[in-house]
Amino acid sequence: MRKLFLFFAFALHCLVSAAQEKPDTAIIAKIRAEGLTHSGVMDIAFHLTDASGPRLMNSPGFFRAANWAKNTLKEWGLDNAALEPWGTFGKGWELQKSYIAMTAPYYKPLIGLPKTWTSGTNGLQTAEVVIVTAKDSVELMTYTGKLKGKIIILPPSDTLKPGYTADASRYADSQLAKMATYQPDTTRRQITRVGSLQQAAAQLARIKDLAKKEGAVAILSGSARGHDGTIFVQGGGAYTVQSPENFLDITLAFEDYMTVYRLANAGTVKLEAEVKTKFAAADSIGYNVVAEIKGTDKKIKDELVMIGGHLDSWHGAMGATDNAAGCAVMMEAIRILKTLGVKPRRTIRIALWSAEEQGLIGSRNYVRNHFTDTATRKYNAEGDKLAAYFNLDNGTGKIRGVYMQGNEAVKPIFTQWLQPFNDLGAATLTLQNTGGTDHLSFDAIGLPGFQFIQDAIEYSTRTHHTNMDSYDHLQPADLMQAATIVASFVYNAAMRDEKLPRKAFVAAPARGF
Ligand SMILES: [Zn+2]
Repeated sequence: MRKLFLFFAFALHCLVSAAQEKPDTAIIAKIRAEGLTHSGVMDIAFHLTDASGPRLMNSPGFFRAANWAKNTLKEWGLDNAALEPWGTFGKGWELQKSYIAMTAPYYKPLIGLPKTWTSGTNGLQTAEVVIVTAKDSVELMTYTGKLKGKIIILPPSDTLKPGYTADASRYADSQLAKMATYQPDTTRRQITRVGSLQQAAAQLARIKDLAKKEGAVAILSGSARGHDGTIFVQGGGAYTVQSPENFLDITLAFEDYMTVYRLANAGTVKLEAEVKTKFAAADSIGYNVVAEIKGTDKKIKDELVMIGGHLDSWHGAMGATDNAAGCAVMMEAIRILKTLGVKPRRTIRIALWSAEEQGLIGSRNYVRNHFTDTATRKYNAEGDKLAAYFNLDNGTGKIRGVYMQGNEAVKPIFTQWLQPFNDLGAATLTLQNTGGTDHLSFDAIGLPGFQFIQDAIEYSTRTHHTNMDSYDHLQPADLMQAATIVASFVYNAAMRDEKLPRKAFVAAPARGF
């Protein structure tokens, strides 16, 4: 009898917990109306991109965007809007002038951009191009005394292939269906060492050392991944306050790189270049932008639902899809909730992370400072109060579902939360992990952190870390859809009785905590 009673009690409990996921349809309808027909997401995106400029970590553009976001969140009535310090990052860096062209055998402008944290040319320089073929330190010694005043080019490691596939894509139903049935692979993965890549990187570092010592002007980089005027351009070396300025490394559009290389092979090539860069070491502290809507339920108002995306970008363009898009969506989700005047039971906190591009440093430090018991490397009492973290950082594409990060227990909950948005293309839940962004900082210590599945659009082909990551590549309808869904997820997470379930077992993270 008692068993039977327990059974019924359990069955009732299940029914109740399933029922509590039923989203509040009246609020969801209001969120949809506000998010889809009164959207402010593109205006937010304008301020984070065109108006702020490139947002390289600790650059003036980053601080323009961070302060604008903080002030705007404050104007919307959020509490505790701040640039919250998380620890030491390093130097700011800004590109103040960038010019490169070929002057012999004839004049031709070149498409090129310096990598970050590199030094300038000290005025306009004209330099002959020298091909360096040295594969090791012994061969490199033969170039001693030959590099002063020269611009260095290395033999290309790839060739340009025509693009037979479209730059932009969306998930096909078949791809989403495959993701939905994904089962985690429990077999140990074979780690193959990328020895030759490491060797190439070490040799490049040696070449740059010699070039700097000898007084060369610059080294040129080029890869066939970037073509048709698109340059993938990232970090040029260390950025700590103590580290010296890095040798000037200019990434050229691949077609220009190959032209210079072939001509240098055939005869004399001269380039002129003027690059001016500015380092800022005055404030080496890293900051995340944070703000809150305070919880109202006496019992659970100190519990937290967090949303975020990284505000920092690379420097080649405005970081529109990486990741002004995610930040604009998260801010817009907050604006929607504030406009509707919702009174969440739990506190809702937005965080716009910094230094994601240097290895999720801003969010890792935030999670360590707030949520981690550094002795056990598991979450502490404050971490225990985190109901959920939702991240957006896969470009401008609309939300198609959620990566559950191996957390099967959230499936029935998210299924119901997505249901009102199935008609907008968001219905897929996958146990798959997805990496490369800030939800990992939460997931690493067992906190429920999730990244949404997004259509790729032109992310890896055209915009991610390129000089073409500009406002025009943002898709307004996609961002409006995403903000609407995020607002609804945040609301549901802030209102349900329980925090989101956590994974049963999480190994202590290897590093960063
Ligand atoms: Zn990103």
